[in-house]
Order: sequence, then C-alpha cells, then structure tokens
Amino acid sequence: MGLTSGSTGLRAIDRGLVIKRQSAGDFVVALAGNPNVGKSTVFNGLTGLNQHTGNWPGKTVTSAQGRCVCGGNTYILVDIPGTYSLMAHSAEEEVARDFICFGGPDAVVVVCDATCLERNLNLVLQTMEITDRVVVCVNLMDEAKKKKIRIDLEGLSDKLGVPVVGTAARKKRSLDRIMQALEGLLSGETKSAPIKIRYTEPIEEAIALLEPLVRERAGGKIKPRWLSLKLLDGDETLLKALRENLGFDISEDGEIQKALERAWQLLTEKGIGREGLRDKIVSCLVLTAEAICLDTVSFEKIGYDATDRKIDRILTSRLTGFPIMLALLALIFWLTITGANYPSQLLSDLFFRLQDKLTEFFIYLNAPDWLHGVLVLGVYRVLAWVVSVMLPPMAIFFPLFTLLEDLGYLPRVAFNLDKYFKKCSACGKQALTMAMGFGCNAAGIVGCRIIDSPRERLIAIITNNFVPCNGRFPTLIAILTMFFVTSTGVRGSVVSTLLLTCLIVLGVIMTFVASKLLSITILKGLPSSFTLELPPYRRPQIGKVIVRSIFDRTLFVLGRAVTVAAPAGLVIWVMANFTVGGDTLLNRFSGFLDPFARLMGLDGVILMAFILGFPANEIVVPIMIMTYMSTGSILELDSLMELKQLFVDNGWTWITAVSTMLFSLMHWPCSTTCLTIKKETQSLKWTLISFAVPTILGIAVCIAFTSIARLFA
Ligand code: GDP
Repeated sequence: MGLTSGSTGLRAIDRGLVIKRQSAGDFVVALAGNPNVGKSTVFNGLTGLNQHTGNWPGKTVTSAQGRCVCGGNTYILVDIPGTYSLMAHSAEEEVARDFICFGGPDAVVVVCDATCLERNLNLVLQTMEITDRVVVCVNLMDEAKKKKIRIDLEGLSDKLGVPVVGTAARKKRSLDRIMQALEGLLSGETKSAPIKIRYTEPIEEAIALLEPLVRERAGGKIKPRWLSLKLLDGDETLLKALRENLGFDISEDGEIQKALERAWQLLTEKGIGREGLRDKIVSCLVLTAEAICLDTVSFEKIGYDATDRKIDRILTSRLTGFPIMLALLALIFWLTITGANYPSQLLSDLFFRLQDKLTEFFIYLNAPDWLHGVLVLGVYRVLAWVVSVMLPPMAIFFPLFTLLEDLGYLPRVAFNLDKYFKKCSACGKQALTMAMGFGCNAAGIVGCRIIDSPRERLIAIITNNFVPCNGRFPTLIAILTMFFVTSTGVRGSVVSTLLLTCLIVLGVIMTFVASKLLSITILKGLPSSFTLELPPYRRPQIGKVIVRSIFDRTLFVLGRAVTVAAPAGLVIWVMANFTVGGDTLLNRFSGFLDPFARLMGLDGVILMAFILGFPANEIVVPIMIMTYMSTGSILELDSLMELKQLFVDNGWTWITAVSTMLFSLMHWPCSTTCLTIKKETQSLKWTLISFAVPTILGIAVCIAFTSIARLFA
C-alpha cells in the first residue's frame, strides 16, 4: 500500500534540497521556528522573496531558500518547516532536525514569538544542543508590547549564551538586527557559549558513559553530548540519518553497543524506562525554559489574551460558531458577486468592441475567413471570456479570503469542523486544506502535508476536489446568475449568494461523505488525536494582502488560464471546422457522449467540455460556447443573458443548469492537480483513486438529481 508514501514523499523533496551557493564564501543560514511565529515574513523580508505567509500554523511545508547580501557577505537563507521541537515526531520535525544536523548550515536563526516565549524556548534549547551557532530572533515584539509583555533581551542573551535580537518582522528595518547579529557571530566577533541543559543525575551519568566514545566517532561533526542523548533515546530516524549522512552505523559498533547497554542498565536501575527517558528529557527542557523566562519576561497585564479568548468563545461556540461561519462565507460570496458584476460587464463590453475592431482589421487585410475564425472567433473569444468573467470575481474573492486568513479565522473554522471530520475518521486539519483548495486544488493537495497521519493525509488529498477552485468558481457564479436569478439589484445578488453558499455547503457535505466512505473501505483506521492551535488574532495588513492576492494568486491563475485557453481555443476551433464523414469532429465526439450525458442531465457538448477542460477548468464554459456557436448562429456574447439565450437555444433547462453545476463541483481534478497528487503520494494507484472518487460520486449525484427532477418537471 502507498500509505507510507506521504511522509517519505515529503522527506524525498527536502532531501533533494540543493543549497545554491554562488561562491564558496557564502554563508548558509537556516531559519527555524515554531509554526506561525513570522518565520516566512522574516525570510521574505530578508530575501525579497515571496513565501506564503498567513495566520495559521503549518504553512511552510517545504524548505525554501533565498539570498541576502549584507556587509559584503552573501547569506543563503533556508526557510525550514515550522516545528515545535526537533524530536522527529513528524516529517516536518525530521526535515528540520536533519537540515540543522547534516545540512551544514553555518548558523541557525531561531525565530520566536515574543508573546509566548517560554514555549518557543523549547526549540531554541534543542537547537543549541545541536549547534553553538545560534541567533535567537524574538519576533512579534510589537504584539508583545501591545499585550504589555516586557522582554529583557540582553538578560535573555546572557542566560542563553547566544545573541538575541528583538524584531517586528512586518517592519523590514527591524530585520537588520538579525543580520548584524549573524555577522558578529560568523566573523567570530561575538562569542557564543550556549548554556548546557542539566538533566537529572541518572541521565547525566548515562550520557557520561557514552560521550567519550561518541566524541571519537563523530569527529567533531556533531556535538557528542547531544548525540549521546539521542543514542540513548534510540531514535530510529536519527540512526538512519547518521548512517546515510556520516556513514556512522552504531549497530556495527561493538564498543558503543556495550556502553549503551551499560547506560540502559543504569537508567533501568533508577527506574527510568524508554518512555520515561523521553518524558524526563522534555520536562528538563520545559523547566529550563521556565526558569529563563521567569527572570527575563514580565507581564504587566495578567490575562492579556482575554479579549482573544472572548472572541473565540463566540466564533467557536456550538450555538454561534456555525451561523457565523456560514454568514461570513455568504458575505464573501455576496461581495464577490455584486462587486464583480459591474467590472465584468465593462470588461466584456471592451473586449467585444475590440473584437469588432479586430474583425474590421482582418477584413481590411483581406485575410482568409479561416484565419479570422481561428484567431478571432477561436483564440480571442476564449481569452475574452476567461478574462472578463474570471478576473473580477477573483480579484475580489482572493483578497477577502486572504484577509480572513491573515486575521487568524481559518484555524477557528478548522476547530468548528474538527468534530465532524473526526466522526468521519478524518483529521480536523482537513478543514484548512479544504480552505486552501478554494484558491487552487493543487495548492490544497500540497497543503495536505500538514496532516501527519498518512491515512488521514490521503483522505484529505482524495477529497480536496470537492471544494471548487477559482477555475470553477466563476463558472458556477455565471450559471447561477443566468438561470436562477430573475431579478437584478440587491435581491438578485442575495439569491445568487444564497444559492452559491448552498452549493459550497454541499461540497463540504460531500467531503464528509467521501471521507467517511474512504475510512470504512480502503482507508480504514481511527482518527489520530492532535491539538489544533488557535493562533492569536492579528490585524491584517490590508494593503499587502491586496497586492499579494492580486499578484500572487489572481494574476498567476489568470496567466495559467490564458496560456491554456489560447491553445485550447485553437484546438476547439479546428475540431469544430474539421469534418469527418460530413460531420465535424466536435459534433462526432459530443454525439458519441450524448446518450450517457443525458442520463446525467447534461448533453454531449457539456460532458465533452468537461473532458476537454481537463488541462484547466477555466476553459469548460468557453468550450461549450464555441461548440454551440459552431452549430448555431454567431452571437455577440456581450452579456450573460445572451449567453443564457445561446444555452437555452441549445436545449438547456434549469435541470441542465443544476446538473452542470453539480458536475462542475464533483468531477475529476484538473491535470495540474492530478500531477500534484502523483507527486505527493508517489503512487499511481492513489492518483487514480483521487480521479475516480469525485467523478463517480459526481455522476451518481447528477443521475439521482436528474431522475428525481424529471419527475417534477
Ligand atoms: P510562519 O508560519 O512562522 O512562517 O509565519 P508567517 O510569516 O506566515 O506569519 C504569521 C502571521 O504573523 C502573518 O499574518 C504575518 O503577517 C504575521 N506577522 C509576522 N511577523 C509579525 C510581526 O512581527 N508583527 C505582527 N504584528 N505580525 C507579524
């Protein structure tokens, strides 16, 4: 079974990380930190790159790298996945630990959250056990100040024995302090002498038995004290990494084996078992962190997060959590739909006026009809549709959604839905990956790496397609508006909002149904327990959110749509004009599909459009338009109502419209998503299953709906 492939896939990706040094003198600096402490913001600020940031834990799942030039030195910064510890409980922790241990970084910057420093120090202490070259960056100082938390940075540096700087990563200038500290450390100007964590007596004695031998074997590549502790811990993943990276195989080292036996004898005599050892190690770390913070952190206002907790009680309570969630979803849709109407109309007017001009130009050039057909009626028309119908809703939906993400609302959604996912034997974090799927299902699939259990990760991957990506969103909105909104103005937009919300809720319900089905059939198992963290609410950076969502998401998606749509327009035009046995290729293909499609409430053209739209969902409606137009009279499709007329002339009823929307919501993932699934699961079998599950459910739902609806029609 490919059940383990998820985690090995992640490791394979990060193992393949090649550090792009431009010259031998470049310094490699790892950026570590707990999730959601602003690590990516620090990384972006220093490198000028654009790693995904957002207010929820678990976004950075792969290691990114970027360059930063400062004081004549070049630094290659590597943003490793956010982790709470380096004990390799999860794939992310293993990646982070292996990079710090074996990736050969010249220094590690551990980014911490100033508002909960004590918890963050755990990672700092563990990192300092592995390497001396550590800079601690206490980020979110602005938030700490607001919450009246005071941190004595100098005192902290004295206690830890490594440089400590305070930053507010959203203000780029504060990041200079990190670079100055790094310069000092790497030039040798600043001396670092990390404190040694004292474990309980028996553990110290056991370490002492191993340390001299380990020092000999490790040859200065790894701190012997830390390695001795890990050998005692018997961490299999580390033993494997040692063999692979340093050629150090302890199972073949008789002397070490003997020392280990003696050490364990000693520990057992003192009543410490394997589990007990880990607990003791962790509690020593926690106590050390506590002692350090006691002297360096002071809270002026007790209960500083009381407001957050109050808001949380409202947003996640049984009574109000769900209504607020639905209302927010509906509000975003309403703003998207009403806001998109006007610019959509403007753009479409503009494009079709331009089409007339283009046609005039072709006539002026005396260009042959087929050339005008291919370029203007084929390529240009599809592009015009894609841009005028897709751009406005995306340009509104993405920034709104990103604002909610930045504010910290998504983890609350995950919290609300957690119980239901558990009931389906799936993981609550699936709500987060589902939310990512709203943007792009391929991104949602990659995001599934935040789910540790391979079984639950597969469920999340297979069901991600039930939330419509932005390629399907505008299609749904357009069909809804055409067929179900009879009035214009506010009432019309309210109706379409409600319908769209119902449709999305249906997608979520189908996610639950499919997850449940999978977990009682091919992916049997119990849900794993995990604690979902509710990050503090943060004021979103509105300007940045808008710029980021327009450039990163909207234009990216549009670019993809356009690059696929243009050649697709060409292919469709050729198919529509190339005849075999007196009929066009397009007609033959759609005619072949027609009987089955009708069972589902569609027609051959619609089903064919979905099949030809495999490269990108954005082109499904344009294919329908072009196919219908190639058989009927040419229309100037400068409004949705004329588009509706075209569809109605080709036999569409409200049943066709609903079935098309249902099938758009539930069918195979697009080609990019399929490739991503293959890459993430490393298995053709799971890719095929991810293809089949939404498709089979979609077909079943469409057939069921059509059969019932026809009884009443
Ligand atoms: P990561 O998970 O550690 O990579 O965290 P991100 O870089 O994605 O940041 C998490 C959230 O915190 C984002 O909404 C950031 O805009 C915000 N953030 C990061 N640094 C700061 C800071 O210093 N001050 C404030 N107020 N917000 C910050």
